[in-house]
Amino acid sequence: MRIGSPREIKNNEFRVGLTPESAHELTVNGHDVVIETGAGVGIGASDEEYRRAGATIAAKAEDIFAECDMIVKVKEPQASERAMLREGQILYTYLHLAPDAEQTADLVKSGVTAIAYETVTGPGGGLPLLKPMSQVAGRMSIQAGATALEKAHGGRGVLLGGVPGVMPGKVAVIGGGVVGFNAAQMAVGLGAQVTILDRNPEVLETVGTHFENRAATRFSNKVNLHDSICEADLVIGAVLIPGAAAPKLVTREMLKDMKPGAVLVDVAIDQGGCFETSYPTTHDDPTFVVDGVVHYCVANMPGAVARTSTYALNNVTLPHALRIAELGWKEAMRRDPHLAAGLNVHAGRVTYAAVAEELGYDL
Ligand code: NAD
Repeated sequence: MRIGSPREIKNNEFRVGLTPESAHELTVNGHDVVIETGAGVGIGASDEEYRRAGATIAAKAEDIFAECDMIVKVKEPQASERAMLREGQILYTYLHLAPDAEQTADLVKSGVTAIAYETVTGPGGGLPLLKPMSQVAGRMSIQAGATALEKAHGGRGVLLGGVPGVMPGKVAVIGGGVVGFNAAQMAVGLGAQVTILDRNPEVLETVGTHFENRAATRFSNKVNLHDSICEADLVIGAVLIPGAAAPKLVTREMLKDMKPGAVLVDVAIDQGGCFETSYPTTHDDPTFVVDGVVHYCVANMPGAVARTSTYALNNVTLPHALRIAELGWKEAMRRDPHLAAGLNVHAGRVTYAAVAEELGYDL
């Protein structure tokens, strides 16, 4: 199969669909790989590295969309890219179609077979092609929070790990799922005093067993939540209610009870945020202050660590790409219902129930 990755053109997107190592895996398995010139620059991968991996370099995206049987990307295709998609071609990328009627209409019109990373399921449940980005965001949230705690960024001037003779900082992590678990790991590693709050007893048990006495667990009710954020130097918002907007767990009223210069990192901002005062920010200007409390609310945190994020994403996307390339998408999906869950659009029809329902298409 001929497989191509164009340079990502969405604003501030530095990731790329295929790393040189993934290109190599595909070429040694007998497939042709075409990469747009400069596509790997954002992760520090040169055209030369892709050439050494057996790929050919295309001068422009048009060549890739015209020649390739499968397009492997990161972000949803932008309007100019959608105009180049065609019937019989496979598009394998993040799509997030439900809130995006325009993109969905274009994909339907193009006749493309669109497989969305975010709806591919895993044998153990969950969404394995989304998980690495939650791991990245969770780990980054502590880095971002630690920086925001510095005086120059409006924070209260606390070093999370403390130093000998000075108490470490306190971190409250709301939600002990993938983001929260990874945030807690980083905070514990730095030597902070960490409390993880969740409503799910199984999550509390898993997290409690893992961290033992290195982090405390606390049931997430209003009283415990209020106590925890009042004590904390850094609060990480890492909740998710699948298919719903994030609940506003910290209200504006509660900010006045927090320590001045404390930091809120709202990782759940991509689902509307779990703090009432949050609004989405960008990596260029990530923080703002409300009532003396610093807010960090970047909606695409993994974009800042494009290299790590691209490699983490490729680890989970490549095995499916290899099977699709080897067997064709139909046979690959027949053999693997988890991959089949990724099919969102095919031959002019929406094939994913939640998207069809949301946007009014017949399945
Ligand atoms: P997850 O499903 O693994 O974990 C969410 C956890 O929240 C669950 O354990 C759940 O029990 C818990 N929860 C639900 N309601 C709660 C409440 N009231 N109090 C305490 N805990 C509660 O989800 P995840 O992968 O960890 O993702 C968390 C959020 O981070 C999602 O909104 C996701 O979209 C977002 N995210 C953002 C970025 C970014 O760049 N900003 C990147 C990745 C993920």
